[in-house]
Amino acid sequence: MDTPWYDDPGKIMKTIVEGGLKGLNEVAHARHEAHYDRGERLNDYIIEGSWYTDSCGNWGKLQWPKGRPDLAFMLVLTPAGYNEFCVVTGLPTNWSASMAWELPPDGMVCDLCLEPWMIQDAHTAVVNRTYEDIPLERFAGKSLREVEKLIGAELSATVFLQPELMIQNPAYVGHANHPVFEDVVVRDEGERGWVYKANKDTYLVQPGDSGYFNVWTYRHPLCQENRLRKLETNYFEEIFTKSGYKQVVLNAIPNEYCGDPTCCGPWFLVRTEVGNFKVGWRKRVINLEWAGKGVGPERDLTHLFKGESTTLERDYVHAHGREKLIDYLRRIRNYQLTL
Ligand SMILES: [Zn+2]
Ligand SMILES: [Zn+2]
Repeated sequence: MDTPWYDDPGKIMKTIVEGGLKGLNEVAHARHEAHYDRGERLNDYIIEGSWYTDSCGNWGKLQWPKGRPDLAFMLVLTPAGYNEFCVVTGLPTNWSASMAWELPPDGMVCDLCLEPWMIQDAHTAVVNRTYEDIPLERFAGKSLREVEKLIGAELSATVFLQPELMIQNPAYVGHANHPVFEDVVVRDEGERGWVYKANKDTYLVQPGDSGYFNVWTYRHPLCQENRLRKLETNYFEEIFTKSGYKQVVLNAIPNEYCGDPTCCGPWFLVRTEVGNFKVGWRKRVINLEWAGKGVGPERDLTHLFKGESTTLERDYVHAHGREKLIDYLRRIRNYQLTL
């Protein structure tokens, strides 16, 4: 049997050269369908030194401990061939592949700056995957497939309903079948009337429906970083204000727990009327430092937190969430004002 075009390095390259990001998506989807729909066994390839596509039609991205090497080349190689190429050209061979299908679809834009993705930079996209419960009142009468497209365009995102429990409406509670579409099953889960596995082309949105959507956005690393910094700045500014602080100046510094600025927001040095702090998330706790390198001179505040079941050291305490941080910041401020 002839090698199908999506498993032939020359034809894969031709599709990408001619089609750009559209071509790259065609290759990815053709390989996925070949394996998942027809059980075909494929070859593993590394495409343009950025993408990994495996024998089961999965799609991944290469990653390196020290970041992506800065070299653009257009080749489709087997992993062994790619490693030989790396040795010859001096590229690092300590790559791995994350098979999370982080490929911007053709025509997709970054939802923050609205710049379109191109084949040249698509591998830099930071993919955010979230779920959203969206009221569908304004889409009444439209098919679910249309609704997915319309919301996708509004949010500049890949948007699709959950495959099973997809639409919810309080009016369906207690029904076994949908009051309008009788062949559609309704399930009461958590006392909400859920439409179960509706056909996206024939089910039309009813008044009161809301949908449970997957929302995938594709952001430039810098756009994502700026967004996280902004969110985190507002978050901590609000906490200090809420804790009674009158003068609050935040300066972003690198996150000392997570080294990826596209994953977690920064930490902050905070100057206030009662001294300086360093503050930032560390897994599920917020690290609050009141002295030490870059923060300020030693001061004894540990007695303010005696009895708290948390990590407490000479210069810092861990706050379990927002309310605890507000509580701790209030204690410090009140104490400092009595000195
Ligand atoms: Zn952007
Ligand atoms: Zn992180």
